[in-house]
Amino acid sequence: MLKIGCHLSSSKGFLAMGKEALSINANTFQFFTRNPRGGAAKELDLDDVKKYIEFAKTNNFTNIVAHAPYTMNPCAKDESIRTFTKTMFQDDINRLEHIPQSYYNFHPGSHVMQGVEVGIKYIVKLLNDTLFKDMQTTVLLETMSGKGSEVGRNFEELKTIIDGTILNEKLGVCLDTCHVNDAGYDIVNNLEGVLEEFDKIIGLNKLKAIHLNDTMNPFASHKDRHQKIGEGHIGLEAITKIINNKYLKELPFILETPNDLDGYKQEIKILRENFLN
Ligand code: FE
Ligand code: FE
Ligand code: ZN
Repeated sequence: MLKIGCHLSSSKGFLAMGKEALSINANTFQFFTRNPRGGAAKELDLDDVKKYIEFAKTNNFTNIVAHAPYTMNPCAKDESIRTFTKTMFQDDINRLEHIPQSYYNFHPGSHVMQGVEVGIKYIVKLLNDTLFKDMQTTVLLETMSGKGSEVGRNFEELKTIIDGTILNEKLGVCLDTCHVNDAGYDIVNNLEGVLEEFDKIIGLNKLKAIHLNDTMNPFASHKDRHQKIGEGHIGLEAITKIINNKYLKELPFILETPNDLDGYKQEIKILRENFLN
């Protein structure tokens, strides 16, 4: 069974997101832990969480993905931004600990003129300050397209972050198909080769989730604009190979394509039809 879902608005709570996902034939979903451009998170409704967990069990949902807000920059030059990031990061993880086996996906950040080494040092510090021994949540580093000074534009940078993190058994990677294409990994013509490279550098056991997006930009453009499935430079044929790849087919796939709920429903339908087992 294909594990697939899309990004949903979290404003109505977990049970509502679960029901919305089910209504479009999804069995997972992603949501922002708080307003992507703002700060404060809503108080966690434990009754809602409890109902969601029941619902997820009944409907065979797989791991859900919480996405950290974009305001977070773990490798900002300004210390107050790094401190603010750490506070949000800890608070988000504490909430997610109430939901079994969830993933917390974040963008490693932008080093803005400090250089990638300094950026990575700050990201590693954040992880070493916040991960704790018996946490249930797995923290995912997202592969980035390399626009501006983004860290995580290649597998080597992610590997360096993982290696620097003491509790790195709590870490994984979320591969965004739009981002890696734009970063210069040829998943259209050489998916096997890209995955071999991932395995050699990071290890495929670290790959925990896929952001399944088409892209508006050509290969290696170092941009980041998602397109609807089959309407961009990746195309439905390559995306079909991705969901059926022997190393990927068991992972949760999250759509972050420019769609309303009905558009996501259509994409999920097509992808389920193209999934071979
Ligand atoms: Fe993202
Ligand atoms: Fe993404
Ligand atoms: Zn993106």
